[in-house]
Amino acid sequence: MPVRTFSRMLTALGAIAMAVLGLTVAAPSPAVAESTPRAALVCYDTTNAGPFAGYAHQAASIWNNATNNVDLANCGSNLVIYYTYGGGSYAVRYGLGVGYVVIDYYQAQQYSPLRIMTHEIGHILGLPDNYNGDCSLLMSGGSAGTACTNPYPRSDEAATVDYYFGGYRTHTVGAEVFRDSWPVPAAMTN
Ligand SMILES: [Zn+2]
Repeated sequence: MPVRTFSRMLTALGAIAMAVLGLTVAAPSPAVAESTPRAALVCYDTTNAGPFAGYAHQAASIWNNATNNVDLANCGSNLVIYYTYGGGSYAVRYGLGVGYVVIDYYQAQQYSPLRIMTHEIGHILGLPDNYNGDCSLLMSGGSAGTACTNPYPRSDEAATVDYYFGGYRTHTVGAEVFRDSWPVPAAMTN
């Protein structure tokens, strides 16, 4: 009995030792938790977006629903939305998730304003143009024609944005200007 009791004590002590060891090992866990990928916040500003503010909110929701690693919120000026008259919409990116977008009022009367908005924001989120005429692609932009009103990034476009914001990227997504003087519809050139 005494041996068995002693054995139990050892087992109990072992469990305590393991628990203490476990706590010791687990101690640095806050640092581990902080390095766990979490959604990056991109604050956008619609103060100067005029009639396109609503589209900016819709585009932010579309991107938020399509991605896991980035959240767009109307909380600041990482991404400023402007509008202008003529010359085409464009995006100026300073870095990943930082820059500004200019929506061309006239272009937005020919092409879907929401598609333009999500497309231009796509540039700020790291995507280049891909003018291949495929309406299922958001970054095909105006090459898909005025009849294409698809405002949603395709799954591979969204996955690329997630990749960039997930901290796994192997290259810098840097400063660039994306001019989207999309083709004028044939009917308007007559
Ligand atoms: Zn573009």
